[in-house]
Amino acid sequence: MTAGELWEVIVVGAGNAALTAALAARQEGARVLVMEKAPKELRGGNTRFSGGLFRFAYRGLEDVAHLLPHMEEKQLQALDVGTYTEEHYYHDIMRITHEEADPRLARVVISESLATMEWLTACGVEWELTSLFNATVGGRKIFSPGSVLQAKGKGIGLSDRLFRAAEGHDISIMYDTKFVKPLVDSRGAISGALVRGSDQVYEVSCGALVLACGGFEANSELRARYLGGDWDRAKVRGTKYNTGEGLMAALEMGAKPSGHWRGCHGTPIDASAPAVGDLKLTDLTNRLSYPYGIMVNRLGRRFVDEGEALAQYTYAKMGASILAQPGSVAYQIFDQKTVTLLEKRYQTGTPVVADSLEELALRLGLGQGTLSKTVQEFNAAVQDGAFNPAVEDGKGTRDLEPPKANWAQRLDSPPYVAYAVTGGITFTFGGLEIDTQGQVLDTEDRPIPGLYASGELTGKFFYHNYPGGAGLMRGAVFGRIAGTSAAHYARLAQGR
Ligand SMILES: Cc1cc2nc3c(=O)[nH]c(=O)nc-3n(C[C@H](O)[C@H](O)[C@H](O)COP(=O)(O)OP(=O)(O)OC[C@H]3O[C@@H](n4cnc5c(N)ncnc54)[C@H](O)[C@@H]3O)c2cc1C
Repeated sequence: MTAGELWEVIVVGAGNAALTAALAARQEGARVLVMEKAPKELRGGNTRFSGGLFRFAYRGLEDVAHLLPHMEEKQLQALDVGTYTEEHYYHDIMRITHEEADPRLARVVISESLATMEWLTACGVEWELTSLFNATVGGRKIFSPGSVLQAKGKGIGLSDRLFRAAEGHDISIMYDTKFVKPLVDSRGAISGALVRGSDQVYEVSCGALVLACGGFEANSELRARYLGGDWDRAKVRGTKYNTGEGLMAALEMGAKPSGHWRGCHGTPIDASAPAVGDLKLTDLTNRLSYPYGIMVNRLGRRFVDEGEALAQYTYAKMGASILAQPGSVAYQIFDQKTVTLLEKRYQTGTPVVADSLEELALRLGLGQGTLSKTVQEFNAAVQDGAFNPAVEDGKGTRDLEPPKANWAQRLDSPPYVAYAVTGGITFTFGGLEIDTQGQVLDTEDRPIPGLYASGELTGKFFYHNYPGGAGLMRGAVFGRIAGTSAAHYARLAQGR
């Protein structure tokens, strides 16, 4: 590649949103260049760290089975995936985002979700049943509707497959190449990009540009500026390369900011997790079994409804609640009735175990008597009923603040087991405004000619919270759309 070479489509970033855009543009016949800031060995963005869970709409087992061709009929019949209609998906997104998500963008993600799963399969991505958010009851695996499949090998498998597809389809990829800013012609249409390679800054020409270079979650200054609170001190769950320059450069050239700029996806993670994501651990530091126990802060007090809803609907906002506690730390406490329900990921941590609550409090460094008092009050408020980890069982507390709406069981079967957690940031919600074709709009709501975007750096999808698996789905649906649109635009602009 030479700096003077003309690319029809340049895609910035090399995660799920970028590589799906690159593949779609290539399928339209465009000459495509992907530029990735990270060196090759650290390529792949947050996508590579992810659990690979994709939330998609389906009518029933048949649609899911279609994506699992290696599974035998007998194995399939032991699964309870329910149905996850487009209306159910839409209702989930709107409820969770307090009705603030853009209905048109949400509808596109949802209506294209199953077709995009099939398209990804055709690109070489393979699927397996997710280990998250499900329970085995009476020999049947019961999935929470919508959360059934993850990419085989999780984020690492997904990333490998997408790179393999890109390399196999003659898409050029430049590593150690940072997008600095878009270049425009006298009409304000995209004409290329200013980039920084390992030892020089130079310009590359293109017909259209797709920005898919992530949010600003790995930039503490931008976190302080936009998210506020203690987010500048939070641990970063994924890549260190998502520092927001692409997003800022687009705003600088007149792109419209949209979405929830003070909002982000943040989850409970091991308090001793590294400061930024580690590719050996990927998502294993997550601690999402809190609905089955209680969480207390350093004062020994509960501070949140651990059982508000299924974890897939609460985990992405739970990080913020923990981060706001003294020292940004909390303790998830279980007893022998529930410790067997913990996700396997807890095995990467070191719990504190004790035969009595007093001893546990001492070992955790909590004030004398505070934990015992909290548990006493909690136990007294627990209502009778059948505990069922597979569904929101309504077994809650009465006259307790904060309440626990589901899965409330008395903590009374020692030894007690505690895991220290903090709030880790996954990705940011504020971003560029795009239309349903993936075109970036300017502050006057007009498409910026030749500029497209997808993935974490787009806004208006998620507010306050997020339903598990919707990030990868959003990125793939709009990656495909943005890549296709960019290729068409570049062709038209060249008069072909
Ligand atoms: C630990 C973890 C687990 C997760 N699990 C799930 C899950 O199971 N399901 C789900 O739906 N979501 C999950 N997510 C969220 C999901 O990973 C992201 O929403 C999604 O991968 C974002 O894709 P993207 O392509 O927009 O960004 P990324 O995959 O982060 O890619 C952005 C790319 O841009 C590059 N880049 C950044 N700046 C520049 C620049 N200036 N120039 C060039 N390149 C640049 C980065 O190096 C990176 O390669 C998880 C995230 C984490 C961190």
